[in-house]
Amino acid sequence: MVTHDRRYVIIGNGVAGTTAADTLRKNDPNCSIHLLTNEPYPLYNRVSLPRFLQGKLIEQKVMIRDFAWHEQRNIKLITETIVTGVHTDEQVVVTDSGLTLPYDALLVATGGWANPLRVPGTDGVKHIYNFVTLDDTKTIIARMLESRTAVAYGGSFISYELCDGFALRGLNTTWLMRGPYWLRSALDPEGGEVVDNIAKKFGVEVIHGDEIECVIPKDGVPNYVKTKKGREIQADMLGVGLGITLNTKILADTPVEVRQGVVVNEYLETNVPGVYAAGDVAEFYDPTIGHHHTMGTWDNALAHGRVVGVNMAGGHQAYVDVPTYTSPLFDVNIAVVGTAESNNPELTSISRREPGEKGNENYRKLFLRDNKMVGALMIGSPKGRKKLVELIKNQHVIETAAEQEEILTLK
Ligand SMILES: Cc1cc2nc3c(=O)[nH]c(=O)nc-3n(C[C@H](O)[C@H](O)[C@H](O)COP(=O)(O)OP(=O)(O)OC[C@H]3O[C@@H](n4cnc5c(N)ncnc54)[C@H](O)[C@@H]3O)c2cc1C
Repeated sequence: MVTHDRRYVIIGNGVAGTTAADTLRKNDPNCSIHLLTNEPYPLYNRVSLPRFLQGKLIEQKVMIRDFAWHEQRNIKLITETIVTGVHTDEQVVVTDSGLTLPYDALLVATGGWANPLRVPGTDGVKHIYNFVTLDDTKTIIARMLESRTAVAYGGSFISYELCDGFALRGLNTTWLMRGPYWLRSALDPEGGEVVDNIAKKFGVEVIHGDEIECVIPKDGVPNYVKTKKGREIQADMLGVGLGITLNTKILADTPVEVRQGVVVNEYLETNVPGVYAAGDVAEFYDPTIGHHHTMGTWDNALAHGRVVGVNMAGGHQAYVDVPTYTSPLFDVNIAVVGTAESNNPELTSISRREPGEKGNENYRKLFLRDNKMVGALMIGSPKGRKKLVELIKNQHVIETAAEQEEILTLK
């Protein structure tokens, strides 16, 4: 019989971990909560980092919580501390600072770390950046202020954010990606062209289908990059968005099932009772599509944090949601809703491109499984997004070509 108040340990104080801590406190007033992070800050908004990078937002506006918020809720926030091991048999976690923390329930909310650029010429060379943390952002800003040229490398959201930051700060910017167009997992050549046209308006040179072969440094900083197709591109700095590796290593010596992420059911619990995962690092069972997947979005991590907090405190709430990723895209917006996968053979898609605002185009794509709406992607005007999300939530069946057209032009 348990004679003590319940002890919760949460690894990672991003939006998933901090929301879970808050929910636990509301559901279990007497419990103890330890919230651990290797970073020096309480929760800040990663989604706001691009605007801080661009100079549109000051640092204070990026912060969401302060240390006092944790003290008021008796949540023990331990910063600048790396969890080095989890022992599920003894129910303890250990840290690099020598702490051993026992738990009754454990949450792994460790997100992912960015993949570095590994090509010749990068060893010991400064000013080649990933873009994940507040500290990354501060160092990139400092270098941007003394640079004239930059290369943003990669074909997904982070490379776009870096490219946008470089261009808005007035750097001569090249955006280089291996794929035939940006976001090839969800877009198609038409949609890719819409994005290229927006980037070009901001003075960015976009290069597809090529890769960095090596970096040619001078005095320990980049001078130019050489590409596999023989281009030489001046770069005082490089911003790299080559995907992330989910932080699952701490579970390597445990029986917890790990694939790409930490495998959890719809209640966000792993195969080891009392051990949970949430946010980017969770490979969760999604009843709406009938299989497990990972999801790297703010809204998903926030909603996971709420559900897992309830369940760790003894509740039984399933996580069922239509994931949505929204982001600025230069001077327009992009929204990716539900399952938007161009290379999924089970899905068909229809798309439409039309003139939009500010000289840009609107682009909209719907993803269907057996005529049921399962996903959508919108570039440009966000009008009609809420209705689209509703239709996807309900797996609406599109019956006729006229209805297709109506949904593609929803306002
Ligand atoms: C630049 C940028 C822009 C983004 N823009 C958008 C956007 O526009 N829209 C959107 O929906 N999403 C966006 N995202 C994604 C979104 O921010 C993430 O999906 C979300 O923040 C994930 O939250 P999380 O709590 O799961 O993990 P994280 O926020 O990654 O938090 C995990 C924490 O755990 C720490 N940690 C890991 N391992 C250990 C360990 N062993 N010991 C101690 N601490 C550890 C990490 O350092 C980190 O602090 C963006 C992300 C970035 C980086």
